[in-house]
Amino acid sequence: MNRDVLVQVLYIVAFALFIYGLMGLTGPRTAVRGNWIAAVGMGIAVIATLLIPGMGNWALIVLGVVIGTVIGVPAAKRVKMTAVPQMVALFNGVGGGAVALIAWVEFRQSAGFDHEPAYVAVASLFAAIVGSVSFWGSNIAFGKLQELLSGRPIGIGTLQQPLNLVLLLVSLTCATLVVTGNGSEWLMIGVLVSAAVLGVMVVLPIGGADMPVVISLLNALTGLSAAAMGLALDNTALIVAGMIVGASGSILTNLMAKAMNRSIPAIVAGGFGGGGGTGTALTGDQTVRRTSASDAAIQMAFANQVIIVPGYGMAVAQAQHAVREMADMLEAKGVSVYYAIHPVAGRMPGHMNVLLAEADVPYDRLKEMDEINREFSRTDVAMVIGANDVTNPAARTDQDSPIYGMPILNVDESRSVIVLKRGMAPGFAGVDNALYFDPKTTMLFGDAKASVADVTEELKAL
Ligand code: NDP
Repeated sequence: MNRDVLVQVLYIVAFALFIYGLMGLTGPRTAVRGNWIAAVGMGIAVIATLLIPGMGNWALIVLGVVIGTVIGVPAAKRVKMTAVPQMVALFNGVGGGAVALIAWVEFRQSAGFDHEPAYVAVASLFAAIVGSVSFWGSNIAFGKLQELLSGRPIGIGTLQQPLNLVLLLVSLTCATLVVTGNGSEWLMIGVLVSAAVLGVMVVLPIGGADMPVVISLLNALTGLSAAAMGLALDNTALIVAGMIVGASGSILTNLMAKAMNRSIPAIVAGGFGGGGGTGTALTGDQTVRRTSASDAAIQMAFANQVIIVPGYGMAVAQAQHAVREMADMLEAKGVSVYYAIHPVAGRMPGHMNVLLAEADVPYDRLKEMDEINREFSRTDVAMVIGANDVTNPAARTDQDSPIYGMPILNVDESRSVIVLKRGMAPGFAGVDNALYFDPKTTMLFGDAKASVADVTEELKAL
C-alpha cells in the first residue's frame, strides 16, 4: 500500500472512531468509554498526519508533543470536576488559536497566498478570523468561569455594538485586501488582531448566566475554523474533525439558547441579557430566616412531596451521595422525592445528571424543568441545594436583570423552601436572589454536604 493511501485509510479509521466515540458521549454510563475511543481515533489521526511525506522539522514536532503532554496530562488528571468547564473553554480556545496561527503560517509560506487558488486564501482567512475570535473569546470565558473576571456583564453600553461592527469590518477589509492580492504581512496581522479584540469585546459584556450558550458557540466556531483550514490545506482529517465539532457545537448552542430563552442572532449581536443591566437592588424586608438541621428534618419528614433542587454548590460540596442517602431516608418514611433538573444548573451541560447518576439516583426521579415546574405548587417542601441563579425569580420579574427572560425552576411556588448554602453570596450571574427573603423560605447555612448529612442524622432519629 503506498503511503498516501495508508494515510487516507488511517484517517477513515480515525473518523469512524470519532463518530463512534461521540455516540458514547450521549449517556453518562458510556461516556468514559466513548472518550477513550475518540482519543484513540485522535492518536491515529496524529500518527497518520506524521506519516505524510515532508512533514517538516522532527525535533520541533517532538518538542511540541512533549510540551503538550507535560502540560495537558497533569492538568487533565488534577482538574476538579467543578473546574472542567473552564478547562474545556481553555482547551477549546487553544484549538482556535492553533488554527489562526496555521493560517498565518500558510500566508507566509505561500507569500501572501500568491499563486494559490482563491478558495485557499478565502478558507484560510475565514479560519484566521474565526479561530482568533474563538481563542480570545474562550480566554475571556475561562476568566469568567475561573472567577478571575466578574460574572456580571462588563461592557461599554450603547457603544458596544457599533464598536464590534467596526472591528468586524476592519477584519473583513484586511482579509479582502489579502485575498485580492495585497501581500503585506501587516494586513494579515490586522486580520488576526482585529478578530482578537472582537473576540474579547463580544464575550466581555455577556453575563455569567449566559456563559453556557457562549461556550458552546465558541466551541462550534473552533470546529468551523478547523474545517475551513482543513479545506485550505486539503487535509481530510481536519475537515471531518472540524465539521463534527462545528455541527455538534451548533446543535448544543441551539439547545442551550432554547433552554435559556435566548435567540442565536441576539447572541451573535451581543444584545442579550436584558440589555446588560445588573438587576434591580432588593428592597423591603431584607431579613432571612435561619433554620436548623432538626427543623428541616421535621418539616420534610411530615411532607407528602419534597423536591430537591440541586445546583453548582452541590457539585462544589460533592454532596450527591449524601443527598441520595437523605432522599432514601425520606422515601422510607413515605415521602415522594423528586429532583428538579435545570438545563444550565452547575457549570456544564448535564452536570447535575452526571453527579446524581454517579450517586445511583434512579432516573425516573430526575425531572426536567418543564415537567417539574408543574409540580412545585403541589409540593410541601422544595430543598434548594447549592442552586442560586436557576431559582432566581428576578428572571421572571426584573427586566433590568442580566438573567431576565431565562426560564427558572419555580421553587417559590412550593409551600415552603429550605435553601442550603454557605452564606449570602450571589450565584454565577452575580445578582441577588429575592427567593431568600421570601417569607416561606428558611436558610440552612453551611457546606451542602455537611448540612445534608446533619439533616439525614436528624431524620434517622425521628
Ligand atoms: P449558581 O452558580 O447560581 O449558585 C451556586 C450557589 O452555590 C452559590 O450561590 C453558592 O453560595 C453556593 N455554594 C457554593 N459552594 C457551596 C457549598 N460547598 N455548599 C453549599 N453551597 C455552596 O449555581 P446554579 O447551579 O443555580 O446556576 C448555574 C449558573 O452557572 C447559571 O448562571 C448558569 O447560566 C451558569 N453556567 C452554567 C453552565 C452550564 O453549562 N451548566 C456553564 C457556565 C455557566 P455560597 O457561596 O453562599 O455558599
